[in-house]
Amino acid sequence: SKAKGKNQYCMFDKSIQLQITEKAYMERSIKEALRNKQFELYYQPIYDCSEGCITSVETLLRCHSPALSGIPTQTIIETAEQTGLIVPLDKWVLEEACRFASKLNAHRSRGIRVTVNVSANDIAQQGFVKQVEDALNRNQLKPDWLGLELTETVLINSFEGSRSKLEAIKEIGVSIYLDDFGTGYSSLHYLKLLPIDYVKIDKSFVNSMLQSERDGLFMKTLVELTHTIDLKVVAEGVETAEQESMLLHYQCDMLQGYHIGRPRNEEDTLRYLLNGANH
Ligand code: C2E
Ligand code: CA
Ligand code: CA
Ligand code: CA
Repeated sequence: SKAKGKNQYCMFDKSIQLQITEKAYMERSIKEALRNKQFELYYQPIYDCSEGCITSVETLLRCHSPALSGIPTQTIIETAEQTGLIVPLDKWVLEEACRFASKLNAHRSRGIRVTVNVSANDIAQQGFVKQVEDALNRNQLKPDWLGLELTETVLINSFEGSRSKLEAIKEIGVSIYLDDFGTGYSSLHYLKLLPIDYVKIDKSFVNSMLQSERDGLFMKTLVELTHTIDLKVVAEGVETAEQESMLLHYQCDMLQGYHIGRPRNEEDTLRYLLNGANH
């Protein structure tokens, strides 16, 4: 009916209005949190199956601003991406992660790599490669101690531009990770064309792996395929011992997830890793 149609229109209208208000509020809050230094980096351990120890950690953003409390990191990141705030935010993340990596590895013979998530807006920037180089130099970091994690979406946006920048970054000696593998489009294509070192298999596949023979076979095939083109595999979201043993059986190279270790703040990460953490 006409009345119902009108009503629906109003609800739709209101929810859009609400979304705009929320977005504007979040944008302001992210800006403020950046200015007030209310962001903090957490680090989640990544276990190397053949070494039998933690050889890298992934940087994950956390926010202490009361205005953003309870809002998932993913949502904060998406808003930052939509508003362009991701560029200054990730610039801070890169610098902070490099400072941490330098501190973490100061007295180590074999360094622990710190990986950082990179958004499409970041890599699209003119000075991105130089920004990475500068962060390495300022913190006297070996390039091998840094890794960048990118999703397929990042790469699709401007394929040629991204590819040449990644080539330059790889040339410097920084490792490249393809994140959330399997959730995007035409993944296999990118694996062959881009200078990728590691493929991170999305946690949804790890989660369903033990549910059926078919899902198990799927994971096994993903690992084999990745090995066929000489890339290493990281499984994300490993939450149980059963998943761990299955992934070891499939010859997965690295494991990450709550079963290995939760993301921790800087101080706890240093303590955890200095204790020779063997999850
Ligand atoms: P991601 O890169 O796929 O990161 C993995 C996410 O899975 C993290 O969520 C992590 O806390 C969570 N996780 C780790 N182990 C497990 C597990 O065993 N089970 C489950 N269910 N989850 C697990 P988080 O920290 O909320 O981050 C969400 C996303 O936000 C990240 O997904 C990444 O895409 C993005 N992100 C985080 N920090 C940054 C950043 O500094 N810059 C950018 N551009 N993006 C970031
Ligand atoms: Ca990631
Ligand atoms: Ca991921
Ligand atoms: Ca993700």
